[in-house]
Amino acid sequence: APAAAAPAVVAAAPAPVITGTLVKVNVSLPEAAQRAAATGADGVGLLRIEHLILGLNKTPGWYIENGKEEEFIAELYGGIKTVLDAFPGKPVWVRTLDAPTDEFRNMEGGHDEPIEHNPMLGWRGIRRDLQSPDQFRLQIEAFKRLWAAGYENLGVMFPMVNHPREFVQARNMMQEWGVDVETATLGVMIEIPSSAILVEDFIKAGIRFASFGTNDLIQYTLAIDRNNENVADMYEPEHPAVLKLIAYAIKACRKHGIECSICGQAGSDPKMVTWLVGQGISSVSANIDAIPRIREAVARKERQILLDAARRNA
Ligand code: PEP
Ligand code: MG
Repeated sequence: APAAAAPAVVAAAPAPVITGTLVKVNVSLPEAAQRAAATGADGVGLLRIEHLILGLNKTPGWYIENGKEEEFIAELYGGIKTVLDAFPGKPVWVRTLDAPTDEFRNMEGGHDEPIEHNPMLGWRGIRRDLQSPDQFRLQIEAFKRLWAAGYENLGVMFPMVNHPREFVQARNMMQEWGVDVETATLGVMIEIPSSAILVEDFIKAGIRFASFGTNDLIQYTLAIDRNNENVADMYEPEHPAVLKLIAYAIKACRKHGIECSICGQAGSDPKMVTWLVGQGISSVSANIDAIPRIREAVARKERQILLDAARRNA
């Protein structure tokens, strides 16, 4: 009998890379870095530097006016480094300054801050930085030195963007100041409806990640002041318009392979997180105390998704 044909050699298909939904943590003060890292979180989805800066009790403008730029850079460098050191090899997204002008008013240098009727709609976030490059540059200098010191896990996130040109302008300024913008991890907060609607244009402009700032996204989508108790019961994270914007942006990010995350308070709510995992969000970032219950909610929803798929295919 003829020898049985040797079985065809079939190259093993590469195992599909399945990355579960990452659970990251929000950090506001470097003092909390160790406690945040002890949760075992997959990184920091939001490091708010304004608390670090507001704690200095002097405005960024004061440092510049008094020739103390190096002091300001050193404060930022040290504070951020503490957090990076607590999360070796894990991504840490540092957000550029996002404090409304009224929070600077009573500090040294505060008399130079503009007086605004609606500070939350005013000169804050990326708007302030693009219009005051001298203040923006001090922050970028701190990041640059951290990257130069080998902290490749540092990512930079721009708050309050409402048009892709703001991202492009910020990145161009960083390049001008010597940042290798091809390798730097730069992303944006999605916290104004315009940026959710234009998410694909942001992706085309080169963002590496996007993160929902739901505290503001809810406020600006529903026209509900997040700090006004008269309308607090209308501040509705699960309002269909908010969910529709978020679902739309997640879908766009998935289509283009861009990491999509959330760092607003809704990311600490198990119900909301369950829904977000169902939409295919890549990571969520929660408050330190919420990490265990968020991890549980993520695992539960992922298990359900896998079981549903397996049973459908059985
Ligand atoms: C947000 O808007 O959801 C957010 C995380 O930023 P902040 O609360 O600092 O405005
Ligand atoms: Mg915000």
